[in-house]
Amino acid sequence: MKFKPANNIQDLQYFGEFGGVNPSISDSSTYTFLSAKTMFDTFEGNADGCYLYSRHTTPSNLYLGEALAAMEGTETANVAASGMGAIAPVLMQLCNAGEHIVSSRTIYGGTYAFLKNFLPKLNIQTSFVDITKLDMVEAAITKNTKVLYCETISNPLLEVADISGLSKLAKKYNLQLVVDNTFSPMLISPARLGADVVVHSLTKFINGSSDTMGGVICGTQDFIDALRSVHDGACMLLGSSLDSLRASSILKNMRTLHIRMKQHSKNATYLAQKFEALGLKTVYPGLSSHPSHVLYKSMLNTEYGYGGMLTIDVGSLEKANALMELMQERNLGYLAVSLGFYKTLFSAPGTSTSSEISEEEQKAMGLSNGLIRFSIGLDNDIARTFEMMHACMKELQVIL
Ligand code: PLP
Repeated sequence: MKFKPANNIQDLQYFGEFGGVNPSISDSSTYTFLSAKTMFDTFEGNADGCYLYSRHTTPSNLYLGEALAAMEGTETANVAASGMGAIAPVLMQLCNAGEHIVSSRTIYGGTYAFLKNFLPKLNIQTSFVDITKLDMVEAAITKNTKVLYCETISNPLLEVADISGLSKLAKKYNLQLVVDNTFSPMLISPARLGADVVVHSLTKFINGSSDTMGGVICGTQDFIDALRSVHDGACMLLGSSLDSLRASSILKNMRTLHIRMKQHSKNATYLAQKFEALGLKTVYPGLSSHPSHVLYKSMLNTEYGYGGMLTIDVGSLEKANALMELMQERNLGYLAVSLGFYKTLFSAPGTSTSSEISEEEQKAMGLSNGLIRFSIGLDNDIARTFEMMHACMKELQVIL
């Protein structure tokens, strides 16, 4: 049977405590117990349905987690205060000092910095590899490796990870496959393809209104319980917990995620085809020129399209900056990092979201100075948007 993320979310039924159509927001940081014994049991993780303290979890956070687990097809989920607040605890939970991670080299700059600069302080080392080459991934695995880490579609180069292939490797060497699915919520369900843990920055498409931060870890009940343990759980002890008010607003925005993803995909497909036809070097997984187009298509949940992210290369940072400034002036989008907003957002990753990666390494992975990353918005009239972008490009001689 086909996996239907949007149906799974819609089929969850929860009412507010007064019969409200939205669950009530739990506006408390701490919870009372009728008996001291139950309080003790809850600390030990043995009192289902009882709440302890908001850093542990809250009813609002559990509701949001349930919806995200339904979307990803995992047993359960734990929400966090940001994407990094989800990723860092997962890696610290899975690895001890002396252990090793094999990671895609093209990942979000913050995650890259965490793996490259922070985890070595705990004596956890990472090898960065071209994730599209399974033989290279396998060659990087050592006896100390515990985790394979990648993004489904990488930030910013839009490389596609072969989740099933990576999962086979993970199983062969008894590793945990952790996949960041931030760029492709609903489109792709990594856990269905064999990922052990799926993380997201909710700050992006899932919330979709660029007004809050959030993160989530989707996985087995055992793993999520371990992360929440009061004794040694990285989520509980590192303290990156989401506030209930924000959890409830993200849950409400999630109701329209499937509609938004379809519109982001439709608009991005239109622009990618038009940009490519102009002769611009365009990367979009929906284009047949994308090196992993066929693989990507084979992993998609049909109906949500190819996603809202695309890149073009305009040749130099000067041209990229001039084009982005002019497009913003003409109200075609915002010169801003992040993604998943109703307006198109654009940035030059080399000097923004990937600036943690050294120039040399950027070169090695093919991240050029003239690259512009677009998160395509929900524009009702994308043909008009294209015409206006085209005019900007002609004016600045980005195209001749
Ligand atoms: N993962 C990806 C793919 C991202 O693009 C980002 C942020 O840009 C993150 C994780 C981190 O998320 P947050 O900014 O919510 O901590």
